[in-house]
Amino acid sequence: MSDLTIVMYHYVRPIKGSRFPGIKGLELEGFRNQLDYISTEFNVVSTEQVVDASKNGSKLPPNACWLTFDDGYKDHFEFVLPELVSRKLVGAFFPPRAAIEENIVLDVNSVQHILSSTQCISGLISKINEYCRVAGMSDRQISKLHNKLAFANRFDDANTIYVKRMLQHALPETLRSEIVKQLFKDIIGIKLEEFSKELYMTVEEVKVLIEHGMYVGSHGSMHYWLDRKSAEEQEKEIQHSLEFLNGVGASLKDWVMCYPYGAYNHDTLSLLRKYKASIGITTKVRVANLKIDNPLELPRLDTNDLPQYL
Ligand SMILES: [Zn+2]
Repeated sequence: MSDLTIVMYHYVRPIKGSRFPGIKGLELEGFRNQLDYISTEFNVVSTEQVVDASKNGSKLPPNACWLTFDDGYKDHFEFVLPELVSRKLVGAFFPPRAAIEENIVLDVNSVQHILSSTQCISGLISKINEYCRVAGMSDRQISKLHNKLAFANRFDDANTIYVKRMLQHALPETLRSEIVKQLFKDIIGIKLEEFSKELYMTVEEVKVLIEHGMYVGSHGSMHYWLDRKSAEEQEKEIQHSLEFLNGVGASLKDWVMCYPYGAYNHDTLSLLRKYKASIGITTKVRVANLKIDNPLELPRLDTNDLPQYL
């Protein structure tokens, strides 16, 4: 068997009634239900089985399913790990180094929390555009960006995508970091350093995942869109992340790369070959076939593509 359903998870936590009830994530109850469903319909495989099947052509069980958890959230330690352990299942976790080791909040997460705490998206857009004007951008430049970026995808409407893309990569890095910091302060009102400690696992917690037989692989350090970085910058990201993995005791043999935002280019693929990664996982949406797919470009389903309430 060479078909492999790779499932991607981000936030997994009790959301209703929490401090961020608007956050887009999977309710813990939905996760439990989904694991029940997966346990009946699929055979959950380990990262080692996936690597072996990809490298050596060994057979996967029928309906093989590989569980992957991105971004190093504390949710994964607090809620996911106990659920997996009690069901004797394993998963693969991809924490970005800077979030775990340096107590920063990744821009992607600041923006998600800003959006989740915003009732009026057009008000938020006006604020962002105002910051851009103050920084010297013309109305014409701003509306050009809007026309280029504001397109809905399968999870978000056009305005939400505009906010995300402006603050994730479209604006110059210093400007967007400054805007994100300011919006976070105004809207969330928690110190970023404190928030980082709440949001991400500690180094010790990542080690505990490994002690419980979980796989920990690379998700970069700063969670950049790698396709927007030079080969040199990408190499630094990969090196930093591998140092981190080595430090927490993760295996670097046949390591797995999970591309932040699913973004990569030719340089990324060459670097992964140079540093001997065995698997790369993307956000292309379909079931993978290890016989046909490039092992460095495996597609994944989102948790929302599988039932969560039975
Ligand atoms: Zn990520």
